[in-house]
Amino acid sequence: MTTSSATAITWNLADLYAGVDDPKIDADLASCAARCSGFAEKYRGMFGDSLTAGALKDALEEYERIAELMGRLGAYAGLLTAADTANDAYRRFEDRIQQQLVERENQLTFFELGWLAVDDQVANRLVAEPALANYRHHLSSGRRYKPHTRGEPEELLLNQKSLTARAAWTTLFDEFVASLEYTLEYEGQKRALTQPAILALNYDPDRNLRKAAQACFFTELSRHELVLTNIFNTIAQDHAINDQIRRYDSPMASRHLANEISPEVVARMQEAVEANYSVAHDYYRLKARLLGLPKMATYDQYAPVATKMPSCEYLTGRDTVLAAFARFHPRMREVAAKFFESNWIDAEVRPGKRGGAFSASTVPSVHPYILLNWTDKLRDVSTMAHELGHGIHQYLSRKQTYLNFHHPLTIAETASVFGEFLTFDYVMETTSDPEVRLGLLCSKIEDAFATVFRQNVLTRFEQTTHAARRKEKLATLEICQHWWRANQALYGDAVEMFDLYRWGWTYIPHFIHTPFYCYAYVFGELLVLSLYRMYQEQGKAFVPRYLELLESGSSATPEALLARVGADVSDPAFWQKGLDVLKEMVQKADELAGQGPR
Ligand SMILES: [Zn+2]
Repeated sequence: MTTSSATAITWNLADLYAGVDDPKIDADLASCAARCSGFAEKYRGMFGDSLTAGALKDALEEYERIAELMGRLGAYAGLLTAADTANDAYRRFEDRIQQQLVERENQLTFFELGWLAVDDQVANRLVAEPALANYRHHLSSGRRYKPHTRGEPEELLLNQKSLTARAAWTTLFDEFVASLEYTLEYEGQKRALTQPAILALNYDPDRNLRKAAQACFFTELSRHELVLTNIFNTIAQDHAINDQIRRYDSPMASRHLANEISPEVVARMQEAVEANYSVAHDYYRLKARLLGLPKMATYDQYAPVATKMPSCEYLTGRDTVLAAFARFHPRMREVAAKFFESNWIDAEVRPGKRGGAFSASTVPSVHPYILLNWTDKLRDVSTMAHELGHGIHQYLSRKQTYLNFHHPLTIAETASVFGEFLTFDYVMETTSDPEVRLGLLCSKIEDAFATVFRQNVLTRFEQTTHAARRKEKLATLEICQHWWRANQALYGDAVEMFDLYRWGWTYIPHFIHTPFYCYAYVFGELLVLSLYRMYQEQGKAFVPRYLELLESGSSATPEALLARVGADVSDPAFWQKGLDVLKEMVQKADELAGQGPR
């Protein structure tokens, strides 16, 4: 078992329930069942001609009370198993709760469907009534799929057929790619590696090993071109057929609708990113210099710049993050401190505990809980800042009622990445070792590149391949060419793309699972960089508006919420602000590299 300075830092879930045998649990389950039946009885017939704003408001408020109770039960069961996945009693408990919650949800579905069926004119009139002001966004965004929904028998058919269509291909992809084994021969030794193990070698200090690993990885994938090309083609065709059935006018339209973002905003953002590819070139040239190479290759991108990074104890991490947040605003520190003082964090590493890190919002009447796996690495500090950013966002959103409490996807990562930035700046200012500072800065730059630049490349690749697939089935070589061109635009003359790199598209799950998802990563990260720039420009004046944004939950569209902070996402100049932050980081790294002993 790994021990770290976070041993015995565990959360106290008593604010949800006292334990699996808490009698309140059965009482709440019974109350949920009774209230759902009562709700269905009272409101099932409400969506007729006599529907009034007052009745709809009453129904929504009761709906929220039931959903909040269900949310509390579900959150408790989920957190128990996350903390101890091997515990059979917890697993059985979670199953029991999930089963009951699904039954309750089924009792409530009539409500959403009833609202969808309401005539557009009537719906628009109701949504505009002052009595429903709190639910305006929820009610109108709930209807946004209406023009793209078919009749009940067709929907049922589509749903049933999807099991042997789309879902079958994604399952095949997942299981097939996971089953591949990579036999790496290096310095006379042969070893069989899984995908995560071979990809981890991208971060190895030994260049020859990195190169051998990448060659081995892509060679193995290239052997399966028949399967991988067919899956890719089918998924793209399925997407096209769906767009036709559901009347979406372009391959990205359904994703834009899900994200509640207009196509123009995304187009301006992508153009701004591409106009700044030279920032990436500057960094790749600098990194080549730092690694002592004439030129970077694709397998050098994640090579470590600094090798002697210090460790960090849990309490030091806590103090660092709190100090960084305090500099922004005392309220940020105050909320973050609650998580430590009231035991809302589970940070120790122990067998059976879920890996990684998350912040669970739970419900507005309780508070979020954070799971970390603290290993005493300096990187753990940014993970802590990230999850506390989420935690503060979720905590402040408790101001909203249940239906407006959860953040839309596009701004779900705003507070977390912002929190990381505040902490990063603080750590840079309080660290004196030049090599550590350069190491920190380079990994921050590389993380941002991986999100902003790389995810844009992935999106461009999807845009051109989906457009081409609408004309005819794509040959493997064609897909490889689309991939090569999208990457070439980013790497330019600064990075050598070795021949096998053309297979880079074959293993990326997003292309198969959720086409066009990747631009949301660009949006999320660049949005924070731009907001951070606004903070740098405006200083204290920015702070209250930012905190207000965090309190707003999902009470309006992302564009409207951001407009309140003064962010105009349809203006290319807004996105340039974020790209300027990246540019300055690269310049700073260049300066630091000049000062170092190299
Ligand atoms: Zn996050």
